[in-house]
Amino acid sequence: MAARAIQRVLNSPLLRREAYVGGLWTTSKDRQTFDVRNPSNRETICSVPDMTSEDVAMAIEKAYDVRKDWGGLLAKERCGIVRRWYEKVVEKHEELAYILTAEQGKPLNEARVEVSYAASFIEWFSEEGKRTFGDTIPTHAHNKRLMTIKQPVGVTALITPWNFPLAMITRKAAAALAAGCPVVVKPAEDTPLSALALANLAEEAGFPSGVYNTVTCSKDRVDSVGRELALSDKVAALSFTGSTVVGKLLMNLCSGSVKRISLELGGNAPFIVFDNADVEMAVSGAVAAKFRNTGQTCVSPNRFYVQEGIHDEFCRRLKESIECLIVNDGFADGAQQGPLINESAIEKVRRHVDDAVQKGAHVLCGAVPGPLGGSFYLPTLLTNVNSTMVMTSEETFGPIVGVAKFKTEEEAVAAANQTRYGLSGYIYSQSPSQIWRIAEALECGIVGVNEGLLSTEFAPFGGYKESGLGREGSKYGIEEYLEIKYICMGNV
Ligand code: NAP
Repeated sequence: MAARAIQRVLNSPLLRREAYVGGLWTTSKDRQTFDVRNPSNRETICSVPDMTSEDVAMAIEKAYDVRKDWGGLLAKERCGIVRRWYEKVVEKHEELAYILTAEQGKPLNEARVEVSYAASFIEWFSEEGKRTFGDTIPTHAHNKRLMTIKQPVGVTALITPWNFPLAMITRKAAAALAAGCPVVVKPAEDTPLSALALANLAEEAGFPSGVYNTVTCSKDRVDSVGRELALSDKVAALSFTGSTVVGKLLMNLCSGSVKRISLELGGNAPFIVFDNADVEMAVSGAVAAKFRNTGQTCVSPNRFYVQEGIHDEFCRRLKESIECLIVNDGFADGAQQGPLINESAIEKVRRHVDDAVQKGAHVLCGAVPGPLGGSFYLPTLLTNVNSTMVMTSEETFGPIVGVAKFKTEEEAVAAANQTRYGLSGYIYSQSPSQIWRIAEALECGIVGVNEGLLSTEFAPFGGYKESGLGREGSKYGIEEYLEIKYICMGNV
């Protein structure tokens, strides 16, 4: 099954082995490439250009040259092309899902869900792009009239991670393009093929040359490529999704040219279950939130706080659910948990589990590699977790649940907010007043109440504290790519 699926990917017309710059498919100037591997078995799928900072400067130049033309189109014309891109993605849904599973490892059914999720942002912003209204403002003087208009910021650099290789691009690119900004997309080294497939469909949708560009590079060159995107005067805005460490580095670099910057960074989400919670609801929410994408999700709960009265029952039922999860190659029938993305991901998971066990955590299940070895790790449940353990301060990004017991509401809120991160948080409670108290007290941008799956194009996505700046999706997402211009008409 897996071998046949990889063959299907290799035969797909959407599998591109070149980067896309200025409307042309291109190699890196020095012809260097890097291999893209299947995380299930580390076998090479194909190779793509390892672009240099000069190649990237060329892509920026191409985007810069067309910024006035693209920004000058009527919103209806621009959004019509964005809408065609959406239709192309929907048409090629299955092809995209196969490419995604091949290079990222997530189970095929989850890949299908991601394709739909990615498409939803394109559809959404093809509509929102027509609603970038300005204001007329009450005047402060009889002979003056005041108003605002919104204008595209200009060329936008988009740097994205490997965990949602399609959706993290479309959530940014569709908003920027609909706002009138040409884009230069730089996907992660592990997952360039999904990004190139999206570029292929953007080309088919009819974006004029230079409006949509995708540059690929390896980790060896990402530093200089990142510097080019962040330092270039021709790039007006940079939007980044990834780790907080790299986000801070880019923020520093962008300060040189006072670039507009949006950051969607790491999380360390608390998941709080109170004694009065519906335990079944809490367990299914925990499984949905934690084990989606094998735990490699920025909004994935990273710290579980369960009140003492419900603790044992919650852990017992959660263990039963976790043990039912099927770990296998993403293309295998029924697979629910795929491999982790690469060696350093599995290394981090091992380090967190070993540290917790050494410091007194109890293993209820898992804590060993998966049956296929390599990057597979069995879904794991640890109890007796405390704040001295690394897994409570660092984002694990893997299929590990670590539960700490608490007594009072105050204790749970203090522990939940004891972090520099603030992306998401989860509350399970049947008390409306408790729900309001905790939802307001949590220092994070997204709160799930009796619900584990929160993401949608309709709602704003983004973090407090070191989890980021700005919002994606929703009516707010397009604002990241627009300037507000105030116009004062005098002598009226
Ligand atoms: P990462 O190492 O920061 O990488 C993210 C992207 O930045 C990749 O394209 C990466 O390229 C690139 N990059 C790395 N070093 C760079 C540099 N010096 N200059 C410019 N670009 C650079 O993050 P990751 O480990 O791949 O992704 C996981 C992280 O993303 C987690 O912390 C997760 O929480 C976060 N995330 C956040 C959200 C959100 O919406 N808040 C969503 C998804 C993920 P290479 O692949 O070549 O290194």
